[in-house]
Amino acid sequence: MADLKTPYDVIIVGAGVAGCSLAHALASTPRREPLRIALLERSLEEPDRIVGELLQPGGVMALQQLGLEETLEEIDSIPVHGYCVTRKENIVHIPYPAGHKGRSFHHGKFIMNLRNAAKKAKGVDVIEATVNDLIESESSQQIIGVAATKKNAKDSENISLYAHLVIIADGCFSNFRTKVMGPRVCTPVTKSYFVGVILDDATLPYQYHGTVCLTESAGPVLLYQIGSHDTRMLVDVKAPVPSDLKGHILKKIVPQLPSVLHTSVTDAVQGGNFRKMPNSFLPSVMQGGNEFGTKEGVFLVGDAWNMRHPLTGGGMTVAFNDIVILRDMLARVQDFSHWDEVREGLRRWHWDRKPLASTVNILSFALYDLFGADDDNLEVLRTGCFKYFELGGECINGPVSLLAATIQSPATLFYHFFAVAFYSIWVMFTHARLVERGPGLKPQLITPSFTDYPFLLIKAILVIWTAVVVFLPLLWTEIRWWSPNDKNARTTILFRYGMPVAALATVAFGAFKLTF
Ligand SMILES: Cc1cc2nc3c(=O)[nH]c(=O)nc-3n(C[C@H](O)[C@H](O)[C@H](O)COP(=O)(O)OP(=O)(O)OC[C@H]3O[C@@H](n4cnc5c(N)ncnc54)[C@H](O)[C@@H]3O)c2cc1C
Repeated sequence: MADLKTPYDVIIVGAGVAGCSLAHALASTPRREPLRIALLERSLEEPDRIVGELLQPGGVMALQQLGLEETLEEIDSIPVHGYCVTRKENIVHIPYPAGHKGRSFHHGKFIMNLRNAAKKAKGVDVIEATVNDLIESESSQQIIGVAATKKNAKDSENISLYAHLVIIADGCFSNFRTKVMGPRVCTPVTKSYFVGVILDDATLPYQYHGTVCLTESAGPVLLYQIGSHDTRMLVDVKAPVPSDLKGHILKKIVPQLPSVLHTSVTDAVQGGNFRKMPNSFLPSVMQGGNEFGTKEGVFLVGDAWNMRHPLTGGGMTVAFNDIVILRDMLARVQDFSHWDEVREGLRRWHWDRKPLASTVNILSFALYDLFGADDDNLEVLRTGCFKYFELGGECINGPVSLLAATIQSPATLFYHFFAVAFYSIWVMFTHARLVERGPGLKPQLITPSFTDYPFLLIKAILVIWTAVVVFLPLLWTEIRWWSPNDKNARTTILFRYGMPVAALATVAFGAFKLTF
């Protein structure tokens, strides 16, 4: 590296949520020598996307720690005081505890504020250019810069920039994930799609609350206000996406929404201005080169590295929290050309971010599996989950604090998830349920009797097994440190040791809970 011209200390690719906040954070950290940072973005125009529109209270707190809370102002943002979950006309209110508050907004307006904050930070050059490639040192194979095409008024110009550290923050469709990860690369798995439309002047069941509508035989629907007159609706659809989206939403979804939403949703859907985004799962992999097998001189942040289901609106919260920890970690490295120090910092960062990131990641998919249930046992869990919330008190405060990212604890998540599982079984044995009585006859509410118990006992075992199969693999993706593509290691350890231990632990936990 010594013989190379190094005009920048850090190059950041992508001026989105993670890139802008990282540039600002690095520039604001006191150092012996101020850093020179290049922040490259392919288009500096206001983005128009259906992502990143609700920031959880934990994300607002991280933004404050980064000194960026001003970016939530002057964009017609809306306060968020919690959630409500609906099943047709049944509504359960789930406020954030202790007066915590999130914010929702038009994504593009928020990004423009973040970009302005990055532009104003000392030592940051924001350059409108598309990065085409990473430049590798021929002798060390370390990444030493980027090749990009600069967007000029008349023409486009190819440029090469060099730095000790290249940080990739190019989002969910990252072009550089494979190159950085090398043999450790893991590909995002698309779980479903969110189809988005904007409703005009809609009335939500609870004002200033995110709304999650559960539907039967279709995915959940998410609604939140993003401006004085605009409400975002995201409809979860599984692949293959129906060719007649309008018909799908009008016939299958609208009748299952609370009636207060019918008119505004129908009007917006008739307008048919749909946008679609994949909902992807991408577990994080240890970075830093050497024994981790990833490239040196470069690493990934944000969605390029780690993704979870957007149902719980946790992506930006994870990104900002990651940047807070990364900022403190990089502040201890005086010279970014000392890769051994950076590698050690990345290793610490990987684990230090886990309490929040793992909680948000696991929660998003665990809830998605329950709320998007298309299986009988998951349906039992979904009913149990709704009734668990109806119990109120800690059965609401605990889960919503995890969702809000004000509690960072996979153990608390484990507790509530399996409390829901055992409560679902209790509900199955004790609560009346609608039973079909044959063609032409109305379904009837029937409470299970002793003769149903043997069947219900078998079902209870299947329900617990389903809960274990949903939760444990998610937990596993968070605590393992090798590549998830390393199938042999994963399968052996997961099934030979992990599952039986987990099943035993779960049964012991359930017995404890039922006894006390
Ligand atoms: C449907 C959906 C809804 C979501 N809703 C929420 C929500 O409500 N709340 C929440 O917290 N999270 C939400 N998320 C997740 C959230 O949007 C992401 O976690 C967050 O945007 C990740 O930030 P990022 O900086 O990694 O990527 P981005 O914000 O996508 O930024 C990447 C940037 O890189 C630029 N770029 C890409 N390639 C290049 C290149 N080659 N050269 C130069 N620049 C490049 C892009 O133009 C972009 O500006 C949602 C996700 C989805 C899919």
